[in-house]
Amino acid sequence: MKKCDLPSKTCPVCNRPFTWRKKWEKNWENVVYCSKRCSGNRRMK
Ligand SMILES: [Zn+2]
Repeated sequence: MKKCDLPSKTCPVCNRPFTWRKKWEKNWENVVYCSKRCSGNRRMK
């Protein structure tokens, strides 16, 4: 599998695209945020 074939999403918190990671291989469908930091930062403001 080529690196460029990895799926990616855009994080709604930081608005940056992030790429599939090995640790997400079993729950990629449920991954919304690029990092724990963003997932804990949902409350804008
Ligand atoms: Zn983020």
